[in-house]
Amino acid sequence: MRIGFGYDAHRLVPGRPLVLGGVIIPHDRGLDGHSDADVAVHALCDAMLGAVALGDLGRHFPSSDERWRGVSSLVFLRHVTQLLADCLYGLANADITIVAQQPRLSPYIPRMVDTLATTIGVPPAQISVKATTTDGLGFPGQAAGMAAYAVCLVHRSPSTPSSWQK
Ligand code: MG
Repeated sequence: MRIGFGYDAHRLVPGRPLVLGGVIIPHDRGLDGHSDADVAVHALCDAMLGAVALGDLGRHFPSSDERWRGVSSLVFLRHVTQLLADCLYGLANADITIVAQQPRLSPYIPRMVDTLATTIGVPPAQISVKATTTDGLGFPGQAAGMAAYAVCLVHRSPSTPSSWQK
């Protein structure tokens, strides 16, 4: 068993869709970034990469690369899952906390869990997504941006699930 941790933050700006955990959420602003700036998926990818000591998301998907402009971060998650499978590791479980003052995220969390689990190829029970505010403190509290933290456990899997095979 190995453990990984990831963190990400992005600025909120007008004129961008808000995408969290692979789900588009109605809001007056969205997260700014090279890709869709999905902080939850970026934190999860960094946790998974960290668990197998394969660097970070920026190393695998540099923002200087035009191929990743505007792309869904689920593309990154699919790739990171494959990198783990190539090392014969599978995700045991992941726990993600999204830090956002608004909008209220709880109605969207079941869809985030389903989307992430389907993308990784694990049962939804292995994925946890939580949301919290900071009681008005700091950049998430002042709605200047959002952040996400993720931890995951990976285990050496003797057989790679078929959903991970190329
Ligand atoms: Mg990011």
